[in-house]
Amino acid sequence: MANKMNGAPAVTPRAESRPRLLSIVCPAYNEDANLGHFATAIDAAMRVLGQPYEIVFVNDGSTDASLAVMSRLRDTHGRVAIVDLSRNFGKEIATTAGLDQAQGDAIVVMDADLQDPPEVIGLMIDGWREGYDVVYARRRERRGDGPVKRMTAALFYKIIHRIGDVEIPENVGDFRLMSRKAVDAVCSLREHHRFMKGIFAWVGFPSKAVLYDRAPRVAGSTKWNYWRLWNLSIEGITSSTLAPLKISTYFGFATALVAFLAGAFFIFKTLFFGDAVPGFPTLVVVVLFLGGIQLMVLGVIGEYLGRVFNETKARPLYFATEIFPSNAESVRPPVRKAV
Ligand code: UDP
Ligand code: MG
Repeated sequence: MANKMNGAPAVTPRAESRPRLLSIVCPAYNEDANLGHFATAIDAAMRVLGQPYEIVFVNDGSTDASLAVMSRLRDTHGRVAIVDLSRNFGKEIATTAGLDQAQGDAIVVMDADLQDPPEVIGLMIDGWREGYDVVYARRRERRGDGPVKRMTAALFYKIIHRIGDVEIPENVGDFRLMSRKAVDAVCSLREHHRFMKGIFAWVGFPSKAVLYDRAPRVAGSTKWNYWRLWNLSIEGITSSTLAPLKISTYFGFATALVAFLAGAFFIFKTLFFGDAVPGFPTLVVVVLFLGGIQLMVLGVIGEYLGRVFNETKARPLYFATEIFPSNAESVRPPVRKAV
């Protein structure tokens, strides 16, 4: 499998020195303590760069004062757009809602908790200028994470690397800059089971990594526990590859082969040596083993079937209670209106 990160794609530098408008998409769920700091930090960083920008906040069904804080920021800044979702849809869909609304010719996706340092945006814009369509931020090390999280993350990447169809770069989150072209591609994928890292990887385009140190959260607490991370991993695998189905089939073949050989052995033994022992334990073991394998394989099929079910409903990805645009002038070519 070709590793996109090693082979440098040929890119042509852009004529412009910086994006005309940079949209910063920020999904937020119960982040009222962070949003003010976030807007201030972004404003400071953009001033240093002399970069026109807008912040697209997505209120992902927060139960705290996040929406009120966003509205206050919008009143004072003006460079703030708000997409107020009708309930909590989860980070992946919230991010998509923000991308749908972004008006810029380059878009950065960032967490609200300032774990993604705004200074890195400067490096990303350098990459954009060089002609890359995607500039993603790669964590230099996972300092904030404990050994268990590091190990499980490494294991996940190992698995997806082995069985996945596209290369998902390691230690890379959603924090990245994308050109309008890349964002339009991402937005055109309307599947419900959205594993953003998989989607970003699937759309392709010339990409480049910049290294950064991930800061600890400024305030509030992470929304990810091990259960959610486990589910995200399942999502990551099932939404990007059919390999588990294939593996199940091989499992099935292997078990059938073993069962066949065992069957032949027992027939042979009974015919030539008689049935001295009733063989109850063997029977139980074989039945349980086969039953277990079947249930496991059914479970894998069920995971995919459930996803097919959800996708065939073809529901809109989200509903927004209200969308408040920023006062930045759109530089986006008038195209699709997708939900
Ligand atoms: N988030 C969201 N909807 C959710 C959960 C999280 O929009 O259902 C946002 C959250 O407000 C934050 C970002 O996603 O801006 C990353 O979440 P978090 O910091 O909890 O994840 P971590 O940094 O620990 O991976
Ligand atoms: Mg965070």
